[in-house]
Amino acid sequence: MDVIFASGNAGKVSEMQQLLAPFGLQLKSLKDFGLSGAEETATTFVENALIKARAAAHSAQLPAIADDSGLVVRALNGEPGVYSARYAGEDGNDAANNTKLLAQLSNQEDRRAYFFCCLVFLQHPNDPTPKIAFGRWHGEILQQPQGEGGFGYDPLFYVADQRVTAAQMNSTLKNQLSHRGQACQALLAQLQNQIWHHA
Ligand code: IMP
Repeated sequence: MDVIFASGNAGKVSEMQQLLAPFGLQLKSLKDFGLSGAEETATTFVENALIKARAAAHSAQLPAIADDSGLVVRALNGEPGVYSARYAGEDGNDAANNTKLLAQLSNQEDRRAYFFCCLVFLQHPNDPTPKIAFGRWHGEILQQPQGEGGFGYDPLFYVADQRVTAAQMNSTLKNQLSHRGQACQALLAQLQNQIWHHA
């Protein structure tokens, strides 16, 4: 089944393609349709994911999946949260976002944070019963970046169990552990349930 994934972030698109391909869902990206993402005007992950999924389903005339995700830092009252991609102003400037995060946390001993992901699946733009799934990945923010892989805040996100940052993990491991991986498993469980109930 073709599904449009409402993201323009190449890192996320390839992670999601890898996660969903084994289940027969062929993810198309916004780029495949020459579309740009809807404006994220809400203050919660779930509302933003719904906005993005609805817009993509409408424009592509396909079932749509959208994610909204970000980093939630305890000592910063949940910042950068839904503003993670544009924390330093410009959208998607990972280096500037990481620099700002380190500055905001300078002299802060409590480095606890988690990545949060909300995934939404809509069968069509007016689907009144969206499937909604969540994932949360705990870690701590280092004093300086480590690792070259991943994207976004990965080089600052240290996972104690694994003794590496998200940027030092291979994509298979990251997908197993991550907020997006967890939300994906939860969403797939809901989709499979639905298929089973209709069989
Ligand atoms: P969104 O595209 O509005 O969901 O913004 C998500 C932003 O949160 C990204 O641009 C990153 O800054 C951050 N983010 C979300 N997931 C990850 C991840 O797996 N690693 C690193 N940063 C992430």
